[in-house]
Amino acid sequence: MDIAPTPAPVPLVHDIPFWESVEQQDLKLQRCADCGQFRYPAGPICAQCNSEQVTWERVSGKGTILSWVVFHKTYLPAYPAPHTVIAVRLDEGPIIISNLEGPEPEGSWIDERVSLRYVTMPDGVVLPRFELDRTAS
Ligand SMILES: [Zn+2]
Repeated sequence: MDIAPTPAPVPLVHDIPFWESVEQQDLKLQRCADCGQFRYPAGPICAQCNSEQVTWERVSGKGTILSWVVFHKTYLPAYPAPHTVIAVRLDEGPIIISNLEGPEPEGSWIDERVSLRYVTMPDGVVLPRFELDRTAS
């Protein structure tokens, strides 16, 4: 059986450090060097203070599910149904869209604590995904 290719990211100029950090399994997000606000997706200026000064900083990988959906139809061969998609608010503030790996919550997934893990797809592409954080208090 052929391996379904993982759809490749199409990084814009500001996204390249993000995808490099994913590949290195050391997730970093853009952070304003003036006011300290993390931002994702990356962009040329800070939405809070308009500064163009930026750093890239490691994030905790911890967050809370804001919303979720389970696709029961396969749209892309790399993501066979059932396929979960979650919106996670990272503890650092930004919202990231990803997938839930492993056990799924009973009932609503909203407010479930999750932690980042890296998944290597069958074709070798590394993706940042999340799993339930059962160590959360
Ligand atoms: Zn700022």
